[in-house]
Amino acid sequence: METTAITRKKKGGKTKHPKQPAGTINAWEQDPGSGNQPDGGQLIQEPAPDMSATSLPTAIKNPAKAPAAGVYTPGTAEFRYWAAAASLSRGSAFWSVQLPGISWEVGKTLPVDLDHGSDLNAYYDRVGLRFFHGIVGTRTFYSGESPDVINHEQGHAVLDALKPQLWNAANLEVPAFHESFGDMSAILCAMQVPSLRHGVLAETGGSLYKSSRLSRLAEQLGWAIRQSDPSDVDADCLRNAVNSFFYRPPHTLPTYAPASALSSEPHSFSRVFTSAFFEGMANMFHITTNKDEADLLQVSVDMGKILVAGITAAKVVSAFYSQVAAHMVSAANALFPNIAYGQALKSSFIRHGIISVASSAALAKLKMTAAAAKTMTAAKDKSKDVDRMRLHVAEYDLGMDSILVHGVSEPKSFAIAGATLNVGMVTPQTDDEAAKSFFEDLLRRGRLRVVKNNVAMSPVVRPGLSETHHESHTHELQQEGSEYVLKRVRIDCGPWCGH
Ligand SMILES: [Zn+2]
Repeated sequence: METTAITRKKKGGKTKHPKQPAGTINAWEQDPGSGNQPDGGQLIQEPAPDMSATSLPTAIKNPAKAPAAGVYTPGTAEFRYWAAAASLSRGSAFWSVQLPGISWEVGKTLPVDLDHGSDLNAYYDRVGLRFFHGIVGTRTFYSGESPDVINHEQGHAVLDALKPQLWNAANLEVPAFHESFGDMSAILCAMQVPSLRHGVLAETGGSLYKSSRLSRLAEQLGWAIRQSDPSDVDADCLRNAVNSFFYRPPHTLPTYAPASALSSEPHSFSRVFTSAFFEGMANMFHITTNKDEADLLQVSVDMGKILVAGITAAKVVSAFYSQVAAHMVSAANALFPNIAYGQALKSSFIRHGIISVASSAALAKLKMTAAAAKTMTAAKDKSKDVDRMRLHVAEYDLGMDSILVHGVSEPKSFAIAGATLNVGMVTPQTDDEAAKSFFEDLLRRGRLRVVKNNVAMSPVVRPGLSETHHESHTHELQQEGSEYVLKRVRIDCGPWCGH
């Protein structure tokens, strides 16, 4: 999209997009920060973006008025506006090609609030994307200034458009996959920037599975959080897609852990899938003909197709990571029969324990036809929710004996699961156990609000909420007649422990 002409004239002299602003703007390449520093990100110049130009359009609602397009200095509100617009447009351009005919869950246009209050945070809530400002020492940081953060949040909205039944699914691997998809979206969108592709090839010598500006996500936000909670984030970014975490069933992990260890918290656990994805993409790049910048761009587009087909084909079950991974391998074999992408991905998923070695025979039998895989890249799963199931909750003293949750009740389509630490594969939890693990984890993290007779209460309270942004719970128990139903209200991407 960097080379998109500023105005495209139709025959007869009318502009195709009359609202498109003219001019060139300044933006960040992938983040305002660099490594363990809050500054030092690469500045790039682009034609002023047209946010309405794709089938997944976005619109900045706050600030209400767009400044005139121009090359502004970082630190100004005008710079932040156009930097955010550039990232949003890049995300829309990338994902709209992968998802033809699919629109946002919120409607035609995805609204964006660039400064919803004071917090080191960002979230997606089926109303739109919200970004915040946070003060650290004498500096004010804006989460909506970072392409990594913007394309992560936009990724939640993209996945929600593609697979809306993940929204309410009461299973620990599903929200973690949503977080991983956000990070994968940030990585794939960054790869659409020419200077990033050149830079990362120079930085890694073409061996992509190395810590680099591409693998390090949200360096500036990571720095800002590190100043008060050093153990919450990596040493040189918020999260790094190059890591050595090995799959564990999330219900066997603690609710919290420092960034150096794995926990069941969605952002923490997301790192297992993201690293397998990133290593798989490095493997895919390694088998390209020229291993140059053009091949890197092509790999990002091919990976987008494989990811979308794999997600679309995957059933929403307890072992969701292995379901998506197996279908990605199958989709890669079907879509690219003459390139060894499938083997490249299978290797990385096995190395990170998402697919057990003992699943190899079953994986070999999972064949997707090329026609089916192509349909997958264009198909939205129409069902809005997975089925409801009853969960007994009397022991939690919530004033009710049972609730309804959206359990992951779809049957597994084949025998593939993550690896154990010794021999064989993990036995996935039953639907009931998985829902109970999810609910208790939610209670322990203080992310549940109970709404009873229009009065809201939190069974477990989180400390240190923002002064301007009190709504940080992710789920509510909502009354429906005589029943209480567990529903998600937002995907909150703030500091993962939320101390
Ligand atoms: Zn997120």
